[in-house]
Amino acid sequence: MPASTGGIIGGGPRPCNSGLPGNEPLTKAEAVLNSPHFPLLETTLSGPRPLIAGNWKMNAGDAAGIALARAVIEGAGSETLGCDLLLCPPAVILAEVARLAGGSAAAVGGQDCHAEDAGAHTGDLSAIMLREAGASFVIVGHSERRAGHGETDAMVRAKAEAAHRAGLTAIVCIGETEGERAAGKTLDVLAHQVGGSVPAGAGAADTVIAYEPVWAIGSGRTPSPGEVAEAHAHIRARLAGRVDSAAEVRILYGGSVKPDNAGAILALGDVNGALIGGASLDAAAFLAIARLCR
Ligand code: PEP
Repeated sequence: MPASTGGIIGGGPRPCNSGLPGNEPLTKAEAVLNSPHFPLLETTLSGPRPLIAGNWKMNAGDAAGIALARAVIEGAGSETLGCDLLLCPPAVILAEVARLAGGSAAAVGGQDCHAEDAGAHTGDLSAIMLREAGASFVIVGHSERRAGHGETDAMVRAKAEAAHRAGLTAIVCIGETEGERAAGKTLDVLAHQVGGSVPAGAGAADTVIAYEPVWAIGSGRTPSPGEVAEAHAHIRARLAGRVDSAAEVRILYGGSVKPDNAGAILALGDVNGALIGGASLDAAAFLAIARLCR
C-alpha cells in the first residue's frame, strides 16, 4: 500500500479533520495551532496520506482476532476514508488476516522482525516471512521491545534494514520516557533515536516514524497537542538531513489515542496518522478514529 503523496503547500504534511461539527479541517488545525499553547507551525492543504495503524500486541490471536479484522475490513468497506488502514495482529493469525484484507482498504503488518533474513534464531520471524505471509509493513523498535527485550537503536535500525530488504515498510517507533521528559531531554532523545534507529537512505516509500512517548502508551495520558506538535516538527527536522523526501515521511503519533482525543491530535500539521494499541482492539473505536481523517 504505497503512500499517496500530494503536492506540499507550505512545506509540511496534510492534517486530518478534527471531527468537530462546523469546522473545516484547516480551520480546526489553524485554531489549534494558533492557540497560546502551541508553537506557530506551517499548515498545509496536502501531504502524506494519513495512516491509521492498529497494534494488537499479544491480544486477539484467535477467532476473536479474525472477527476483529473482519469487522474493521467490512466496516471500512463501504466508505471512502481519508486515510490508509493498517492492522498488525499477532503473527499466528497474520496470514489469515491478510487473506481477509486482500483487495480491501486495509494493509497488514507484523509487530516485530529479526534483523537477519534467516538462520538459527529460535522463536523469531524474519521480515521475509512476514512478507510471504501477506504483510506489507512491520513495526520495529516499539518501546515494549526496547524495554522488554533490550533493543537498542542499532538493533532497531538493523531490523528496519531487514524490513527494507524484504520490501516491507518499517514503522520505526521512538519516544521519550517520563523521566526523560521531566528532565527536559525529550527533543534530544528523539534526535538521538532518529539518528540511531532510522537507516540512512530510508525514505517516505519504505519508512514511517511513530512518535510514542513511553509514558503515554496504555496509560490513558497523552502529551498536550502543543507537545505533540513540537515533537513531530522536531522529528521531521531531524529526518531532513537523514532521509529522502523527509517532508513526505509519515510521522504517526501513538500513546492512548482514543476516539475522543484523536481529533485534536490528528489535526496537527506534522501528524500524519496514529499508531493505536488499546483502541484498535475495538473495531468501532478504531474506525471512529479513522473517520476523523475523512
Ligand atoms: C502502542 O502500543 O503502540 C500504543 C500506542 O498503545 P495504546 O494506544 O494502548 O497507548
